[in-house]
Amino acid sequence: MTAALQSHLGGRWVDVPGATVPLVDPTTEAVLGHAPSGAPDLAAAVAHARTRGLPALQELSFARRGELLSAMSKALHAHRDELLDLSTTCGGNTRGDAKFDVDGATGTLAFYAKLAAGLGDARFFVDGEGVQLGRSPKFAGEHLLVPRRGVAIHINAFNFPAWGMCEKAALALLAGVPVITKPATSTALLAHRMVELLVEAGALPDGAFQLLLGSAREVFEHLGAQDVVAFTGSSDTAAVLRRHDCFVRRGARLNVEADSLNAAVLGPDVEPGSETFDLFVREVVHDMAQKAGQKCTAIRRVLAPRATLEAAREALVAEVRQVRAGDPRQREVRCGPVASADQLRDVRAGVERLKACARPLVGDGGRGALVGVTDEKGFFVGPTLFEADDAFAAEAVHRHEVFGPVQTLLPYSGEPDEAARIVALGEGGLVSSVYTDDPEVALRTALGLAPWNGRVNVGSAKVAADSLGPGAVLPALVHGGPGRAGGGEELGGLRGLSLYLQRTALQGYKPLLERIGAGGRRT
Ligand code: NAP
Repeated sequence: MTAALQSHLGGRWVDVPGATVPLVDPTTEAVLGHAPSGAPDLAAAVAHARTRGLPALQELSFARRGELLSAMSKALHAHRDELLDLSTTCGGNTRGDAKFDVDGATGTLAFYAKLAAGLGDARFFVDGEGVQLGRSPKFAGEHLLVPRRGVAIHINAFNFPAWGMCEKAALALLAGVPVITKPATSTALLAHRMVELLVEAGALPDGAFQLLLGSAREVFEHLGAQDVVAFTGSSDTAAVLRRHDCFVRRGARLNVEADSLNAAVLGPDVEPGSETFDLFVREVVHDMAQKAGQKCTAIRRVLAPRATLEAAREALVAEVRQVRAGDPRQREVRCGPVASADQLRDVRAGVERLKACARPLVGDGGRGALVGVTDEKGFFVGPTLFEADDAFAAEAVHRHEVFGPVQTLLPYSGEPDEAARIVALGEGGLVSSVYTDDPEVALRTALGLAPWNGRVNVGSAKVAADSLGPGAVLPALVHGGPGRAGGGEELGGLRGLSLYLQRTALQGYKPLLERIGAGGRRT
């Protein structure tokens, strides 16, 4: 048996004691390596971050920290082809899916490197404009945003081992907070190789960025008031984390990015065959196929007005049938396998739940016809489209996130308020879309969706050529969502730094406040 992947803790590569689990190519089921399932010495890792990484980062200006992010981006990009291949081997990603993750990672680091360059020598922010507090202007108030003197623990989901690790790291490191990053085990090979490249390049100061493979369960024992945990994964795991004393009693911060039953709403004004209709169909089916539906932002619920339901059904069925599933190394394949045997089991169980309230239009959760696969190996689920007759009664559709290439078509009256009520049955999501060219429909639907979603995508003929679709998370816009989606917020340009900053009100003699704030960057 090959040795298990090592963690990079305390400035060196270390073995994690205990049992190991095999890491498997989801296309062929070939064993690629082993990962530990036990826990390393996490007290020492947290102490290393506090004593080495924290002072090293906090003495740097924002611009200097940005240079570190730029070095990370370049070190990874220099090995792009190797990382794309590894993404296919260990995650079942097509080349396009692999780029989405790997280029998303280096692109987000580069985005924050550029933002940081514009922040110059500052090490903290002055938030908004100052205010006069007394009768005379000399007694005044300001708000500062200063880096927390803590450690960031980043726990990531299996579906974006590259992007998930780097988008979180970019924010914490730019804020001046050292990171211990823990990739999900099933796809950890990619994150592990990326950290190897960063270590080889000497991209970061000692203690600024550590890699934890194995269990993170004990890390919370070592966290306190200045520390931050950014978690991405299922709401079940999030529920376990939320109960820990480090959050409940000791005041560490927790940001949760969890499940989401994202929706796409076809506006009542959109004629079948129009540019906006075609955009709707294209983006819905793209979200089904991309990463085999294993995106937290993927459209799960598709709402069409009863008046155009038949046309929407026909167009979606035709488009889904065009999607080739199979070996992600084959050029024509758009939908690879799901990432692991556990995911396959979960998706199959989810499909059975959907069958209780919806009927299959295409696929049934089975393997379907596969390109380039000649045996029974691989964790494949063919593209699967369901339809339910009563959107309000389709309980399972609004309750269970089936994390695979699976969507459900739902009818609605065409009233924006009703569409928003149906979307709200998902109890909070990351992103929902409305496709319309009618400004009134856009306004009413967008404002109806907004309280329930972290992002609203308005698709129309005017942006059809530029649209990136709802599934792409952009560093300039916030990512996260209320309720089921975890209530967290990441990215959004400089907004994303606030998780790692303390907002502190300052009151006193105005010239003194000006002196204190002079070294900060006003937001
Ligand atoms: P998961 O099973 O909840 O695992 C997520 C991470 O938590 C993994 O690194 C896992 O480690 C770790 N973990 C599990 N139990 C833990 C515990 N008790 N203490 C500390 N860490 C623990 O989720 P997943 O299956 O990897 O990811 C799929 C889910 O993530 C989907 O529901 C998807 O919607 C969601 N997701 C959300 C976003 C977003 O931005 N909102 C993005 C991507 C995915 P091991 O792998 O070692 O068990």
